Amino acid sequence: DDDDDIRLTFNDLALAEHIVLGLQKCGFIYPSPVQVSAIPLERLGRDVLVQAKSGTGKTVAFACRLLDSVLLTKVEADVDTFAIDERGGKRVDVSSSVKAMCIAPTREIALQTADVLRTLATACAGSSKGRFKQERLACFLGGLPVADDGRAMKRRPACVVGTPGRMKQLVEMDILRTDQIRTVVLDEADQLLTKTGFCQDVLFLIHAASHKQRQLIACSATFSKNARKRMESLTTRDGKPSAIEKVSLCEETVALRGVKMCYRFICRREEAKEEDEKEKEGDDNDGDDDDDGMRLLEEKAETCIDIFNSVRFHQAVIFVESRDRGEKLSAIMIKKGGFKTAFTSGKLPQRERMNVMQRFRDFELRAIVSTDLISRGVDCERVNLVINVDLPRDGQTFMHRCGRTGRFGTSGVAVAVLEDEKELKTLKDMLDKTSKEESERWNIEEGDEI
Ligand code: ADP
Ligand code: MG
Repeated sequence: DDDDDIRLTFNDLALAEHIVLGLQKCGFIYPSPVQVSAIPLERLGRDVLVQAKSGTGKTVAFACRLLDSVLLTKVEADVDTFAIDERGGKRVDVSSSVKAMCIAPTREIALQTADVLRTLATACAGSSKGRFKQERLACFLGGLPVADDGRAMKRRPACVVGTPGRMKQLVEMDILRTDQIRTVVLDEADQLLTKTGFCQDVLFLIHAASHKQRQLIACSATFSKNARKRMESLTTRDGKPSAIEKVSLCEETVALRGVKMCYRFICRREEAKEEDEKEKEGDDNDGDDDDDGMRLLEEKAETCIDIFNSVRFHQAVIFVESRDRGEKLSAIMIKKGGFKTAFTSGKLPQRERMNVMQRFRDFELRAIVSTDLISRGVDCERVNLVINVDLPRDGQTFMHRCGRTGRFGTSGVAVAVLEDEKELKTLKDMLDKTSKEESERWNIEEGDEI
């Protein structure tokens, strides 16, 4: 924090020297406030609920926990457990290798987290204190062949990262054994614990990881009351309910530091205005809703192109509400704007989703158009522009979307492209509801200068 005179380093957090050096190699020298608070608790094996704004480094915090105890092995202590098979007399492996499980709501986040863990573990390894083999980490995602997961499990990973559905499937098939899991990380925990479609699978996995000393780490920028309650009911020690440590860096505002939020009305075309007039007069009742929607989308796309041409930015994320609109918008951005753009959504085949994200991370793409698939958790450092073409369903989602920029102290702009005053009111109401007393602090303004 700028106002603090003393700046802690990772060295001050009593991490092992090779870990501090590894973090340094990755450019991590000063821990963020959430890291200062969460790392010691997580390393003690406590159950921790970690709530801090988007982009403040929650991943590195739980990575520190997993590096030491799970991902890196001491050279001499790397012995596996074998036993004699009663029937054949052969030496077979009886213990499960998996010590930690990290659950994420989207495949994009799971892959990203696995990447962060792999990079950090590789950077920290090398000395006699720690060794890292790639196969110690496995990533299990829906949409990819289960046979691949089976092969990965044979290589005895110590840490698995994945999405709930696939991991549950692997547990049910007895491919993934959970009896030795000591640490369960829930990334974007409020979503995992409350959203239908997730929470049953997540609860199944948590209950499956029933080791007496099981540690739960739940991270999110937002925690609903329900999610908090659920977390509290899940933490047990030696079979008894136990208290959960809370790291809550809500700070004084909901707004994201470093993100300037503003809105802009669409540039109406002349013919559209005329149509509006006609509609008002009531003599145009054959107006097709789809046509209207399409015209509006085109106008919003043109506004996006206009913003792209008038703002200096590295990379942008544009949010829409459906696959259909995303594909159309992306096509317009390419054809009319000449911007390298691609669209992603949960409805695309997994390979395609991975491909789009990779091209974006490799800077082959200037912009990505997405549904709320990537509104949370996804961390692309160079994104400094977020555009909301369609309004999200609630203020929380809006905040998560805007949080795709301004990562770790960088700055960015989040623009809402609005049709009219009515849409502005909807947005403002949405933000007010998210946090009553703090509504003014959202401070969304018409952004003429952008
Ligand atoms: P969150 O999950 O809290 O939204 P992430 O864990 O994705 O945030 O981290 C956001 C960005 O901050 C990442 O690009 C990460 O590399 C960077 N980061 C995390 N911790 C540090 C640190 N201590 N110093 C510098 N950069 C960091
Ligand atoms: Mg995150």
